[in-house]
Amino acid sequence: MAQIASRLAAVVARMRDAERRFQRREGSVTLLAVSKTHPADRIAEAARAGQYRFGENYVQEAIRKQDALSELDLEWHFIGPIQSNKTRRIAERFSWVHSVDRLEIAQRLSGQRPEGLLPLNICLQVNISAEPTKSGLSPDQLEATAESVARLPRLRLRGLMAIPAPCHEFQRQREPFARLREARDNLIARGVELDTLSMGMSDDIEAAIAEGSTMVRVGTAIFGPRGQARLG
Ligand SMILES: *Cc1c(COP(=O)(O)O)cnc(C)c1O
Repeated sequence: MAQIASRLAAVVARMRDAERRFQRREGSVTLLAVSKTHPADRIAEAARAGQYRFGENYVQEAIRKQDALSELDLEWHFIGPIQSNKTRRIAERFSWVHSVDRLEIAQRLSGQRPEGLLPLNICLQVNISAEPTKSGLSPDQLEATAESVARLPRLRLRGLMAIPAPCHEFQRQREPFARLREARDNLIARGVELDTLSMGMSDDIEAAIAEGSTMVRVGTAIFGPRGQARLG
């Protein structure tokens, strides 16, 4: 029972430590707990320890857990690959989507966001390490896409997200995060209002915070290792 609470505390301590080390304002980095593949009772345990933002990658799995936990006041973020036929349920059931990688998906989410809900918060996913197999906008598509997404009525464009190629060396971990920060700064200079850099996972929290992350997405360091990812 105490395990998730103590792991959460350790992650928050890493974040506060990195904020101090890299001259970031205390508390300026938010923790998104990535609960994909972990059951609802583990999420409830994290919620009892004070965590209320959770990230999920698979729509069906996420909705099952949202229904099981509906009495808790949790904020749900969708962070997985998005198929067109899943956009309606994402628009109806989440507060944030971090993984928008093309305009067509944003247009569907805007059209399908229910009127009674606040605009859906959006991050554009950027393929910052230029890996041919990874999803995400290429940096040269970013500006045009961001300007179009920012005009969609039922969305609020908040920032950029990236999942760099895994790397274990601190200085090299910083490089793709620095490129994402520069892409963000470039958009801001062109008049696109952004306040979010969604970057950093269990193994590179510190490097991401050093380069300006405002939201780290952490799974393994909180919930332990995942089994086989479930589809759906
Ligand atoms: C699974 C996942 C994470 C969490 O990764 P960990 O290494 O377990 O912390 C973060 N972001 C995305 C997009 C993910 O799919």
